[in-house]
Formats: sequence, C-alpha cells, structure tokens
Amino acid sequence: MKRWYPRQIRRLVMILLALGVLLAAAGVSREWFPLCGLGIAVMVGAILFHLLFYRCPCCGKFLDRSTGDFCPYCGKRVNPEAPPENKR
Ligand SMILES: [Zn+2]
Repeated sequence: MKRWYPRQIRRLVMILLALGVLLAAAGVSREWFPLCGLGIAVMVGAILFHLLFYRCPCCGKFLDRSTGDFCPYCGKRVNPEAPPENKR
C-alpha cells in the first residue's frame, strides 16, 4: 500500500471538507435534504479520516493542527522533500 504523508492527508481532508460544505450548501439552497445529509456525512468522514490518519510516520502520534514539516513529538521530518509539483 502506498504510504501517505501528512501533507497529502491534509490536502485530501481539505478537499473533502470543501466538497462536504458545497454539497450541504447546495442541499440547503435547493431544500433537498438528502443532499444536505450527504454533505454533512462527507464532512464527518473527512474529520474522522483526519483523526485516524493525520499522524507522524515515525512515532505514530497524532499531529493535530500541526502543519510543519517536523513532528512536534519526536522532531523527525514528517513530509518528504517537497514533491516536484509543476513549477514551470
Ligand atoms: Zn513523531
């Protein structure tokens, strides 16, 4: 199984949260509550995913709201060298 780094987990959680908010907002504006419930379910799922997987790959401690590249508990780097994103 591919190893997920905290940075990737955080990005995925943010995308899921945004998607959940959009779905819930669309559900409210159309007064279609199944869609609203789906949006809330996606948001809850994103938070659970964050709680379960946003951990230090070295010591396994929950990183909470830490966004740095180093674990606040063991001091190890939690993200690899910045992946080569399309710079040009
Ligand atoms: Zn650690």
